Amino acid sequence: MREEDMEIAIKVVVVGNGAVGKSSMIQRYCKGIFTKDYKKTIGVDFLERQIEVNNEDVRLMLWDTAGQEEFDAITKAYYRGAQGCVLAFSTIDRDSFEAIETWKKKVEDEVGPINMVIVQNKIDLIDEAVVHSDEAEALAKKLRLRFYRTSVKENLNVDEVFRYLSEKYLEEL
Ligand code: GDP
Repeated sequence: MREEDMEIAIKVVVVGNGAVGKSSMIQRYCKGIFTKDYKKTIGVDFLERQIEVNNEDVRLMLWDTAGQEEFDAITKAYYRGAQGCVLAFSTIDRDSFEAIETWKKKVEDEVGPINMVIVQNKIDLIDEAVVHSDEAEALAKKLRLRFYRTSVKENLNVDEVFRYLSEKYLEEL
């Protein structure tokens, strides 16, 4: 049994290839904003948001790799202690979809098996889409992960992703 008034804080890392919308997702979720040319500040580690899940206050700390995706030494430090992970790709970037399993492995190699979700972002860009939702769903099924389709731009499904990870975490306490 855990203590009643203990604060529940969850570290969630958002990973995926560059430009899939990771920083935008964190900005959207924590600050409620979307900008086309948001400049990443290297050294800013995370943003947070408090939500209520099953009558519990949960503080979500969302960590961004801040454009350092290719530097393993740096990203490993970001992953440390994570309890949840968003594996993000962009619907207009085939490579980013094909890299999902690699990202999953990278995170798991560092922190072991934690709750993860696959997120197909930029679904507002229907005309430019190069990844079918069916394929993404099949991958999620194969990896036994929940799958969400989001548009950070239009604020579609973003809250749901983080709520799901929070609920999963609480279930396991
Ligand atoms: P990161 O490198 O993965 O952190 O990606 P960014 O958050 O920097 O986003 C890359 C670009 O994609 C930026 O110009 C964002 O404004 C844009 N972007 C992010 N999410 C969406 C989305 O859902 N729809 C559209 N159309 N653009 C998006």
